[in-house]
Amino acid sequence: MTVRVRFAPSPTGYLHIGGARTALYNYLYSKAVGGTFVLRIEDTDLERSNSEYEKLQIDDLKWMGIVHDEGPDKPNPKYAPYRQSERTEIYKKYALDLVEKGLAFYDFCTDEELEASKEKAAAEGRDPIYEGKWKNPEFNQEALQRIKAGEKAAIRFRAPKKSYTLNDKVKGEVVYPANMVGDFVIVRSNGLPVYNFCCVVDDHLMDITHVIRGEDHLNNTVRQLMIYEALGAKLPEFAHVSLLIGHDRQKLSKRHGATSVNLYRNEHYLPEAMCNYLCLLGWSHPTEKDIFDKNDLNEVFNLERFSASAAMYDVEKLKWVNSEHVKKMSNADLITLVEKEPETDFFKKQTPEWKLACVELLKKYAQFIPDFPKLVNELILNEHPHLTDALKEILSWETTPKILSFLSDEINKVQTTFVTEAELNAWTEFVKKDLAVKGKPLFQGVRGCLTGHDHGPDLKFLIPLTPVSVLKNRMIDLSK
Ligand code: GLU
Repeated sequence: MTVRVRFAPSPTGYLHIGGARTALYNYLYSKAVGGTFVLRIEDTDLERSNSEYEKLQIDDLKWMGIVHDEGPDKPNPKYAPYRQSERTEIYKKYALDLVEKGLAFYDFCTDEELEASKEKAAAEGRDPIYEGKWKNPEFNQEALQRIKAGEKAAIRFRAPKKSYTLNDKVKGEVVYPANMVGDFVIVRSNGLPVYNFCCVVDDHLMDITHVIRGEDHLNNTVRQLMIYEALGAKLPEFAHVSLLIGHDRQKLSKRHGATSVNLYRNEHYLPEAMCNYLCLLGWSHPTEKDIFDKNDLNEVFNLERFSASAAMYDVEKLKWVNSEHVKKMSNADLITLVEKEPETDFFKKQTPEWKLACVELLKKYAQFIPDFPKLVNELILNEHPHLTDALKEILSWETTPKILSFLSDEINKVQTTFVTEAELNAWTEFVKKDLAVKGKPLFQGVRGCLTGHDHGPDLKFLIPLTPVSVLKNRMIDLSK
């Protein structure tokens, strides 16, 4: 069997992180089993759908490296079109077929009548199940005549009065009791079909073998099972992945912070980190690894390792994952990305060896790519040390002025643009032996005088990256 999965976004807003996670799981599964990943645009809600959002969502997916094999822009003639708004005739045909078979019926009830019936049910403590007269086959003829005469009606599916059982790959056995849902509309009186109907018709016609989507659709699934049955269509496998929740254990929403992929993209998160983190929200790696590249998952990704419980979305963890991806990136790639950042003129002018040593050192401290130019400014180019309490303390030691004066003299003798590690070692040795400074006053003293900080990267790596001119000015500032 060839696996065919789909991601079916509604283009009513930016790509949500929950949607991105669903897309990712579908993508990964298709890659793991050599299947096809279909992108279907569910734009039947014409008022809320917007083709601009379709473009933006596809662009965000592309940014994450989630590339579909088939979709509106890559149609397979056997399955096209891929936008539901272009498939209205198909849904109509299927709906009429169900009416003909008596599995659905025309419903002329007005909104007022339906509302009144709902209120009555509520007053009597019953579920608001459709009780209109049109479900009664004795009205079929009248209905057909009214339709022929040009009247509009909704098409309502006759929900079988029996229970349904779903064997979900994530949730296990889900039992839907009989009478859980009443007869439901599949085509509105304005001719527009509804999600539950389109989704099944499409999944059936597009030969979708696995439906991997969010748990919030579990309630829809019972209606969809009924429609599959009515169409005589083969059921796909279902995997309803767990809900994303915030720290307060409530469903993830804007209250919890940025929920669209685009915002993270603008905040310089790496696409690979985003994929890595989203993948872990509800799925675990067989070796329990936290950090991986989605392209390395290959056959490792499967539907067996989903967790059935809700996954807590935690931006701090995402940041950590991002910093791990920064660390694991090759220095050559880091240099390319850093050079794309604004205000990197100094960086760009340096030798390849300097750049390599610089990213190698700073990646331990950077969470995001824009942190590199910030760190260069703060740790390498800053000529005016900020007099923190810790620095003031170092400067107050009686040994520090001696160190400062010695180092200033040495620096003034240097003719090159940068000092070497050997020169730095020789200075430290001199302070230790000739100036007889030991322990904390030695190490903190040298660090304070050369960097203007009380802590930071190993001096043997940092000082050879710092221009001598900067070291001079720093020490002039500290001598004041
Ligand atoms: N259009 C639906 C959504 O965006 C997709 C549901 C499904 O995957 O079946 O939630």
